[in-house]
Amino acid sequence: MVVVGDSVAGITALREVRALGHTGPVGLIAADPDGCYPRPPLSKKALVDSAGDPEGWSLADLDVDVTRSAAVRLDTERRIVHTEGGHGVYYDALVLATGARARRLAPEREGEFVVRTMQDSTALRDRFSTASSVAVVGAGFLGLEVAGAAHRLGLSVTVVDTEPPLMRVLGPFLSSAVADRLRAASVDVVRATAPVVPYGDPIEGIAVDGVAIPADVTVSCVGEVPNCEWLSGTGIADDHGVAVDEQCATAVPGVFAAGDVTFRRDADGTVRRSPFWSHAVAQAKVAAAGALGLEPRCAPHDDYFWTEILGAPVKIVGPLPPAGAPTRVDGSLADASAVLEWDHADGRRTVVAFGAKKSVGWLRRRAADDV
Ligand SMILES: Cc1cc2nc3c(=O)[nH]c(=O)nc-3n(C[C@H](O)[C@H](O)[C@H](O)COP(=O)(O)OP(=O)(O)OC[C@H]3O[C@@H](n4cnc5c(N)ncnc54)[C@H](O)[C@@H]3O)c2cc1C
Repeated sequence: MVVVGDSVAGITALREVRALGHTGPVGLIAADPDGCYPRPPLSKKALVDSAGDPEGWSLADLDVDVTRSAAVRLDTERRIVHTEGGHGVYYDALVLATGARARRLAPEREGEFVVRTMQDSTALRDRFSTASSVAVVGAGFLGLEVAGAAHRLGLSVTVVDTEPPLMRVLGPFLSSAVADRLRAASVDVVRATAPVVPYGDPIEGIAVDGVAIPADVTVSCVGEVPNCEWLSGTGIADDHGVAVDEQCATAVPGVFAAGDVTFRRDADGTVRRSPFWSHAVAQAKVAAAGALGLEPRCAPHDDYFWTEILGAPVKIVGPLPPAGAPTRVDGSLADASAVLEWDHADGRRTVVAFGAKKSVGWLRRRAADDV
């Protein structure tokens, strides 16, 4: 049993393999020089203060044989993972958990910041400490978390996107509430009609519909690219990542996958990616069970998601994005202390705690109409 990738999907798969009673040898192939750690703090507290850096995970209790070198090729015939360091690691069953990397808008130029790894987060925090203005490209959850950290540090912040903030994830009602919150905090939200491009080399700011917005720091938060080039020639991956089914199995027997490297294809061909924490955890548990030939202990998906919008924690359970106005609102959205619900036509419910202190368990029970 071998796992490639040591972030949340990889580590969860390892833990599940042991929890399911597997006592045989387990290998981990991992590439990040900083070891394994959770990413969510990287765009939140860690950008403001090094005390907010995530703590690394320990593998000490798992009896894992770690090869710290990137996987560079997979031989599915002989069942060997080849690494950059020249190792060949044999497997009976394999779990791919190589995640994704940040998409860049100007990879060939100096001065574009992204936030994906500990090194990215440290570099941006250092740059923030001497900057007075930041331009964030992308008003998704990551872009708004970066904007929130910069705002907390007193920088002048501009966020640019071709869509309103968080529209694709949270839908029009919450997107407009988020835009109000950003405006009230003097975060400049700019709507572009065409894709935004950084200008200069080193980068000096961004060009929005032909108008230059200069900034000391430019951060691209424009999505991610699955780390699957090393699988080329195996038939396991394409440009969308690694296709998996409900068992988290790939096109090749004995090879499973979980987390941000994966996608699912609907019957009508629509590609679905869910690059979120809880989803990676659920898939990893299912992939681990599949690799051992056992029944999984959970479904391969989990619709709990959380983020932070200018310091307000936002937790969500249920289908996204919710359409139209909520069915029920308790508390005040303007004061970032509200619980909102959308009852959908198919009987499911989306529950959102927007700044309100609610546990994940409570949100799940509320979504299941159990509280
Ligand atoms: C800054 C940030 C903040 C986030 N905040 C939230 C949040 O608040 N809420 C939420 O739900 N989700 C959040 N997410 C998303 C969540 O962190 C990801 O969904 C999750 O990290 C996916 O885990 P993963 O293990 O699939 O992949 P990744 O986290 O991408 O990890 C993949 C691992 O594989 C390793 N690897 C890659 N290629 C190779 C190779 N060839 N050989 C060996 N190892 C390799 C990498 O070094 C990495 O350690 C955030 C993501 C980021 C980047």
